[in-house]
Amino acid sequence: MASQHPDIEKVLFTQEDIDGIVSRLGEEITRDYAGKDLVLIAVLRGAVVFMGDLMRKIELPTNIDFMAVSSYGDGVKSSGIVRIIKDLDIDIRGRDVLIVEDILDSGLTLKYLMKNLESRKPASLEVAAFLWKDVEDRTSAITPKYVGTHCPDAFVVGYGLDYAERYRNLPYLGILKPEVYS
Ligand code: 5GP
Ligand code: MG
Ligand code: MG
Repeated sequence: MASQHPDIEKVLFTQEDIDGIVSRLGEEITRDYAGKDLVLIAVLRGAVVFMGDLMRKIELPTNIDFMAVSSYGDGVKSSGIVRIIKDLDIDIRGRDVLIVEDILDSGLTLKYLMKNLESRKPASLEVAAFLWKDVEDRTSAITPKYVGTHCPDAFVVGYGLDYAERYRNLPYLGILKPEVYS
């Protein structure tokens, strides 16, 4: 196993855990999308690692594309403002679109994005979220069709997820020590 970064308080999911989770999602998607015109859309930058792993577990012809939106800035709290920074290069009309997201928290980012993509008339539009931070007395604005795993209500980094653009390359998912961002 990779050695633990000194800023990480606790590892939530190891590389092995993650491989098992993504393999299961890949199998489900392979089964559900057989015979369809699947397009995976990852939301930059956090979802690139999950996208890279997930696409290799899908045993179907698959197109990929990327979008970039901003909702969080460099901090740990949602700004509530969503901006499209990079749009799709491909046309999704009539195609089966699966949005690949790293983490779903309030779901406000994805809700906005889905409304926007829906207007382009895909045949179907669903979400695969690696993590779902669904906690009591706070529900997400959308419900993903595919969920890798549920996540505690803490600020997590690694496996694509950053704090101030750092830690994305950690191969595991962990909780940052509070002193790192206070
Ligand atoms: P939402 O709009 O669902 O509240 O937030 C979605 C985005 O916020 C995610 O795609 C991710 O970029 C960021 N985010 C939410 N929770 C966390 C977290 O615990 N850690 C990190 N690094 N980013 C998060
Ligand atoms: Mg994201
Ligand atoms: Mg971020």
